[in-house]
Formats: sequence, structure tokens, C-alpha cells
Amino acid sequence: MNVKVNDSCIACGACESICDAVFSIADKAEVNAAAVEANADCVKEAADACPVGAIEVA
Ligand code: SF4
Repeated sequence: MNVKVNDSCIACGACESICDAVFSIADKAEVNAAAVEANADCVKEAADACPVGAIEVA
């Protein structure tokens, strides 16, 4: 699973609060790629919760 945050991110913090092993907020959300596989469920939950659809899961 490949996870990216695109430039639509408004740094709202929702993904970090749902899945903080993977997402951390700087000027926009950053992805800890090494943690994605073990946290796939909350990655999907965060992608669904993102208000601007900035989390791309492929
Ligand atoms: S939930 Fe979406 S908009 Fe909010 S910080 Fe995460 S990627 Fe950015």
C-alpha cells in the first residue's frame, strides 16, 4: 500500500489524531511510510475522514 498526502492538505490534524503512527503534521501532513502496512485500517479511516480528500491510498 502506497500512501501520499497531496497539496490539498490544510493541516487540520484529523489524520494525525486518527492514525498518529503514520501521520504527523508539519506544514502539511507527512507520512511515515514504514508504519503504513501495520496500520492499514487507520490509514483508510484517516483517508475517509480527511475533509479535503488529500490522502491518496494506492
Ligand atoms: S486530515 Fe487531510 S487535510 Fe487534515 S492534516 Fe490530514 S491530510 Fe491534511
